[in-house]
Amino acid sequence: MHPLLQHDLDTLPEILRQACDTAVSFLETLPERSTCPPASAQNLQAGDDRLPESGIGAQAALEHFWNRYASGMSASAGPRYFGFVTGGGTPASLAADWLVSTVDQNTQLNFDSVSAAIELATITQLKQLFGLPDAVCGTFVSGATMANFVSMAIARQWLGQQCGVDIAQQGLAALGPIRVLSAAAHSSSVKALSMLGIGRDALVTVATLPGSEAIDPAALEEILAADPDRPTMVLASAGTVNTVAFDDLPALLRLREKYGFWLHVDAAFGGVAASSKRYAPLLAGWEDADSITVDAHKWLNVPYDSAIQFTQERHLALQVQVFQNHSAYLVLPSVRPDNYLHLTPENSRRFRALPVWMALKAYGRDGLAEVVERNVELAHLLGEKLAATPGFTLLAPVSLNVVCFALEGADGTPEALATRNRFQQRLDNAGVVRCTSTSLNCKPGIRAALVNWMTEEADIELALDSMKACYAEI
Ligand SMILES: *Cc1c(COP(=O)(O)O)cnc(C)c1O
Repeated sequence: MHPLLQHDLDTLPEILRQACDTAVSFLETLPERSTCPPASAQNLQAGDDRLPESGIGAQAALEHFWNRYASGMSASAGPRYFGFVTGGGTPASLAADWLVSTVDQNTQLNFDSVSAAIELATITQLKQLFGLPDAVCGTFVSGATMANFVSMAIARQWLGQQCGVDIAQQGLAALGPIRVLSAAAHSSSVKALSMLGIGRDALVTVATLPGSEAIDPAALEEILAADPDRPTMVLASAGTVNTVAFDDLPALLRLREKYGFWLHVDAAFGGVAASSKRYAPLLAGWEDADSITVDAHKWLNVPYDSAIQFTQERHLALQVQVFQNHSAYLVLPSVRPDNYLHLTPENSRRFRALPVWMALKAYGRDGLAEVVERNVELAHLLGEKLAATPGFTLLAPVSLNVVCFALEGADGTPEALATRNRFQQRLDNAGVVRCTSTSLNCKPGIRAALVNWMTEEADIELALDSMKACYAEI
């Protein structure tokens, strides 16, 4: 063995303690750490792109990394990171994630280790948490983008089957164009259309209900009725990013009865609202969708990267048709919900279920519902306070956990855009709260998405103070 490897093997407990100390010191600074490190701290330091001929050992390497780059890490895991939809990691899920790397299981098949059984059990518990029926199967993937991709791959296979074509064998050309209908498809779904060979141009944007991002079922029916035989998938939203709009799923299911399309529900963060009895009705009908996406690294607060793709059990054979993998050294695919190798894009798979399993064990439904309810309450508080603060205005009523706001008087002019950008720059430089810029109804806006388990009322006050101070300076 190389002497440095031998040395590190001999001192492994010390190395892990050092990593643990580093992690603890990072977490302790989280409340004060900048939510957007200065640009200078985001650069690579000299020499760090050069391959060393000889190493320095794990402890010195850890120290090297931390000394040089600690200041370039944002507080994205902390209580005032409202940008994108970025969750943190609860203590249980963080500890579990460390163990995932330590035990290093390859969660492919149902007989290799207990990890597949735990993934299956995690899916079973998530169905209970979300009010999804037994006849739904699920697998862990790396994010909602991949969950949308997998869902649409199964949809594609199903659309082929309706026309006697096996797309997995024959290719998409054997079927011809697929029509994709959505009012507010997430950009990741559009990306998935490209990856699937369906093409971004296949997306037809359906009109929304007045003043809403939710699909207008009448407009959808008009499109369906005009060309009822076209192979079609409908991408529904359960929580759009700007205004957290939920499509009327029961209405879409009635249309599915009539026109026979594949109904996919992108519930990347909105789906987690179903953990709370108070907000579960927003998801009414999703249990009958053909496929569903839910992110775990957003509102379930597990570390990156983790999401769940749900499929109705009746479609599982189609999922196997798409993702089965034949090789002399692999078992033949069978249609069962825990042969993950034959159900997901990956061959080798991280034991991604463990952080979710651990969080459910540690905090239960109560604990996770409390995070959802507190985030929603605080989003409303932030919205009320912003609406009452001179200089700010809401772009949309606060819905669930997202506040979409603007600077007063913001319109579609380049000046308004420049002012918003200046404000955003100041807010980032201050580093107290991170928001994302957006645009709604052609107005430049700012979005605060609350999904972190640590956020409290004091964070809303700190965020508001910073926003007011930055506004005064522009
Ligand atoms: C975040 C998000 C996605 C993409 O999720 P990733 O986890 O970043 O891949 C897709 N759809 C919606 C509605 C989202 O909010």
